[in-house]
Amino acid sequence: MSEKQYKDESEMLYQGRVVKGMDFGKPEAMPLFTTAAFTMNSMTEVKNAYANGFTYVRTSNPNREALAQVVSFLEGGEKSLIFSSGMGAISTTLMTLVGPGDHIICNSNIYGETFDVMGKLLRKFGVETELVNFDDMDNVKNAVKPNTKVIYSEVCANPTLNMCDIPAAAKIAHDNGALLMIDNTFTTPIAIKPIQLGADVVINSLTKFMNGHSDSLGGSITSTAEIIDAIHPVRMLTGTPGDPNASYNMFKNFETMYLRVSREQASAAKLAKALEDHPHVSKVNHPSLVSFPQHELATKLFRSNEEMSGMMSFIVPEQEDRFDDFLSRLHFAHYAMTLGTMRTTLVHPCTSSHSHMPDADRRKMGITPGMFRLSTGIETLTI
Ligand code: PLP
Repeated sequence: MSEKQYKDESEMLYQGRVVKGMDFGKPEAMPLFTTAAFTMNSMTEVKNAYANGFTYVRTSNPNREALAQVVSFLEGGEKSLIFSSGMGAISTTLMTLVGPGDHIICNSNIYGETFDVMGKLLRKFGVETELVNFDDMDNVKNAVKPNTKVIYSEVCANPTLNMCDIPAAAKIAHDNGALLMIDNTFTTPIAIKPIQLGADVVINSLTKFMNGHSDSLGGSITSTAEIIDAIHPVRMLTGTPGDPNASYNMFKNFETMYLRVSREQASAAKLAKALEDHPHVSKVNHPSLVSFPQHELATKLFRSNEEMSGMMSFIVPEQEDRFDDFLSRLHFAHYAMTLGTMRTTLVHPCTSSHSHMPDADRRKMGITPGMFRLSTGIETLTI
């Protein structure tokens, strides 16, 4: 770990302690503000609160603000907003950035519900979305139209781990007056900071690795102050700000983020190699593997094999009648419809995260009935 990283790791623990001029009185643990509103004694106080303070909970809240400051620090962005969920962050931001007649280029390897936002939700509002395979950046270049406003991808896609060449996508976006929006959920700002590589907007589902305990739902958006200030009123209208209780809980859980996520990512690289050597596994998708088609890109964008992603997917024979037997023989790993939690979990994407997608679309993404997606926990690995 570099000296800079040691510094970041320690400094993160001191972020978010003073928000909008509000000093919490230096308690060791962050207090929880469940209040729906703040009281005022004069019109001057009211005006000041609207300008730079706290008024009503849907507009602003100290726990949300404190968490946003930590996320901005981690992602290296000017400002962040905390949302009710990762999907709340994605849909609210896209509703701000695009309108009728605009065009989005989205990676065809994408989380199932983001796929639905692009193909179903935004289409209802006259936004055209084109899904292209980002494995070849010429596909992205060729898809650009005069009305392209956003280029969208995950750093490593759910569940195939296909990567986005962020600097190349940023260049295409910026050469054409568009913004690059990147989902960092599978990788986290501990492994990669998309803004430093040229992205304009970064979304995280905090529900996953960053919170890490499977006990809160939340999302974040990090960008320039100008973009965040444009999203903020839309978040108020859509009613998608994060709940104060969730922000309080996540702030607390963030304190162990480096310890947890570093271990999960290092274990994932080891586990991916072990699974690849297993006779019943025909393929493993993890960027650390030499067999991963974008391994060279991964070595350029990440610091090391051990600092990429805690996620992987692997292919076993399509014998669904034997899946129960397989699951019942696992010692620690267990089936759970989430990812990024402290215990190792797995899901079968065809019947969970991507179940609502047409089979043909899934197969185009490399998601076949023999695929399992695995999220590495903090258990001690003995391999
Ligand atoms: N982005 C990715 C890559 C995801 O995997 C998920 C959920 O699994 C989301 C966004 C949505 O996050 P949330 O469940 O917090 O709404």
